[in-house]
Amino acid sequence: MINTIKKINNIGVTLILNLFKKIIQSARAQITPPTVEKVRIYTRSEHTISRAQISDNALKVLYRLQKEGFDAYLVGGCVRDLLLGREPKDFDVVTNADPEQVRKVFRNCRIIGRRFRLAHVHFGREVIEVATFRGDGEAQNDAQVLNHEGRVLRDNVYGTIEEDVWRRDFTVNALYYNIKDFSVVDYVQGMEDHRNAILRLIGDPSTRFREDPVRMLRAVRFAAKLGFKLHPDCEQALHGAAPLLSSIPSARLYDEVLKLFLYGYALQTFEMLRHYGLFQVLFPDTERSLASEEHEFPRMLLIKALQNSDNRIADGKSVTAYFLFAALLWEPVRVLAAQKMAEGQVDFMAYQDAANEVIARQLRFTALPRHIGLAIREVWSLQPKFNTRVGSKPSRLILHPRFRAGYDFLLLRAETGGADSELAQWWQVYQYASENEQRKMTQPSRKSATGKPRKRNYRKKTPAAAEVQS
Ligand code: ATP
Ligand code: MG
Repeated sequence: MINTIKKINNIGVTLILNLFKKIIQSARAQITPPTVEKVRIYTRSEHTISRAQISDNALKVLYRLQKEGFDAYLVGGCVRDLLLGREPKDFDVVTNADPEQVRKVFRNCRIIGRRFRLAHVHFGREVIEVATFRGDGEAQNDAQVLNHEGRVLRDNVYGTIEEDVWRRDFTVNALYYNIKDFSVVDYVQGMEDHRNAILRLIGDPSTRFREDPVRMLRAVRFAAKLGFKLHPDCEQALHGAAPLLSSIPSARLYDEVLKLFLYGYALQTFEMLRHYGLFQVLFPDTERSLASEEHEFPRMLLIKALQNSDNRIADGKSVTAYFLFAALLWEPVRVLAAQKMAEGQVDFMAYQDAANEVIARQLRFTALPRHIGLAIREVWSLQPKFNTRVGSKPSRLILHPRFRAGYDFLLLRAETGGADSELAQWWQVYQYASENEQRKMTQPSRKSATGKPRKRNYRKKTPAAAEVQS
């Protein structure tokens, strides 16, 4: 009897396993498997990448691997950017050596990652990432076999260059610069797409977006950054696919948001994200407030902030994540704070509570490191405080560690009609004035009949009077 039940169970398990195999096989069949015949090699004279453009450390890694008898290529964004004559953000190397073998070649090397192990070769502040060719398809990674030390067994995870191509997202990101003969190896007509400035997904676009919805954000980011057009099939797959993003952990989305907005193409990226419905998945509160805006200025503040951030990057200046998030989430905070003030709450409390609520909701979509959350709150909480221009408060306010950012935020509001420009001007003069002038500026302006300053009225302000001009 027990044996019969076991047999039935075994048959059941086999049936289920076969079903899974069939599903995986049919998903793979949608992607034409790479063949050596399909490969196109662009010799040194047929492309524009020169070694002078490549970081010395990346070259060192490539040559060293080659010397040890391994294949070594530059791959991904660096090849794509070098072909455009741009300086790559980083250099990624891919090789047939496994991470342990890479570690033996370089002393300054650390292995990172658990699921898929990568080698990081350190040269002071520059890190060259060395990955081993990956086996075909993401699905395989979930079925990895680990040995007793937790090391991923080679055959099941690592693969050949032909397999590695298919796990990459866009054809222009799947070009391999071979250190052996300085050629560019192309299995997916990436060079042609690159020449035509087209972002084409490798394989079936809907399947690739479902496999990893972050690719939708990458599509938008690269389109804005490179000025490339999305291939019509990719664009079609994007429409309506935005909700897939909600399955991505908020920490990963936070990292992606920084890449989207802090690298010099924020404004165009924002417009594209909205166009494809992606923005509302990342910032639902903000999207709601933009959609229901009665005046232009909420949108203007955000646009101006993104524009400023792009300009600063173009000028080689730094931009901060907290200021960006403060701008992205300001409108929901302002609206909520105004509601609270209308209900009788004093201004600074209303802002504080609104900030807490909006940030708590946002955390469900994009994580925010604690120090970033704190800095955002500080920038916001300074806003109602700028309204006080008499007494000793202004002199204390300019000593606040976040004063500069808070003041920049006030300027942003003033420039886009959300705050009194005379108020912003006052603070501009005040912060650079001498102590004596500052004292004069903070004296009550109207005097009583006796010539003495009027007594201050400590009665609670009415909600309308307390409201920060939005
Ligand atoms: P940049 O570094 O300029 O932002 P990049 O293309 O180099 O752009 P990385 O995140 O550094 O982007 O990734 C390196 C390469 O790894 C990519 O070019 C692509 O081939 C591959 N890759 C990265 N993320 C994904 C993904 N989510 N799906 C498929 N391939 C990916
Ligand atoms: Mg890169």
